[in-house]
Amino acid sequence: MTARIIDGNALSARVRGEIAERAAALTARGVQPCLAVILVGGDPASAVYVRNKVAGCEKAGIRSLRFDYPQDASQQEVMARLAELNADPSVHGILVQLPLPAHLDETAVLEAIDIRKDVDGFHAENVGLLSQNREGFVPCTPNGVMKMLETAEVPVQGAEAVVIGRSNIVGKPMAMLLTNAGATVTVCHSKTRDLAFHTRRADIVVAAIGKPRFVTGDMIKPGATVIDVGINRLDSGPDAGKLCGDVDFASAVEVAGAITPVPGGVGPMTITMLLENTVVSAERAARDAGK
Ligand code: NAP
Repeated sequence: MTARIIDGNALSARVRGEIAERAAALTARGVQPCLAVILVGGDPASAVYVRNKVAGCEKAGIRSLRFDYPQDASQQEVMARLAELNADPSVHGILVQLPLPAHLDETAVLEAIDIRKDVDGFHAENVGLLSQNREGFVPCTPNGVMKMLETAEVPVQGAEAVVIGRSNIVGKPMAMLLTNAGATVTVCHSKTRDLAFHTRRADIVVAAIGKPRFVTGDMIKPGATVIDVGINRLDSGPDAGKLCGDVDFASAVEVAGAITPVPGGVGPMTITMLLENTVVSAERAARDAGK
């Protein structure tokens, strides 16, 4: 069997088209969606992410504001900027690019964002709302995965789902979303005794580990859906320099029923869901203002 490929680029392009229409409709009503992005320090990967987020906004008709701080920026400076952005009604989304330099208190920074503008969904209150299946903001990567499952018409209700990884950014919210959607969810991590025992009985496997080609075809149940969140750059071997996921695509594609590639799978959906959250925030603000 060769798995059906779930194409993140195609889905992302379609969803971004819909987002641009919603942004245009809001702008016509006098509420142009606006995302503010804060970058502290010169980490090259973070700079690329921020550039892509700002470019994504521009293409979708979302206004973006970018605030760059040096590596030695103080907690006070960042907090003062957040207070200003929280108070500005023309700003609908606030994103602080992670990781922050070690001298800054990441938790305090994330908790300082107004939860109505927390489009990354990392504030503890939004995490709580997600766990109670209530309206808030859902972290972008797992939200994108849910959209991929829905579009690919993968049955989630009643499915056995295994999430590998328990980070706050991917694994935990992923498990929560799948639980809310009616799956029976097992969360695996580095202390899990027999990972393959769990993955082999899963209808849906989501890999968010950060280890290249870690999940191999023999760990997959025939016909299962495999979602590969991992983004790893290979530093040796014949594919040195190339990107790969946490799943060994070559062996998994022969066993799975559907699979996401890397690149071109979950990756493009993450920024798309950030843009969607920003538009959702602006729509809520317009609704509250009676516009
Ligand atoms: P993370 O915070 O490092 O978490 C990795 C998780 O994998 C941890 O829970 C860890 O377990 C678990 N793990 C590590 N080794 C394992 C093993 N041998 N067996 C089972 N579980 C193991 O990483 P993350 O931020 O969640 O990101 C995961 C991957 O997704 C990375 O490759 C990252 O680049 C990628 N990512 C992609 C996107 C995207 O847009 N597509 C977005 C975010 C992240 P412990 O908790 O026990 O340590």
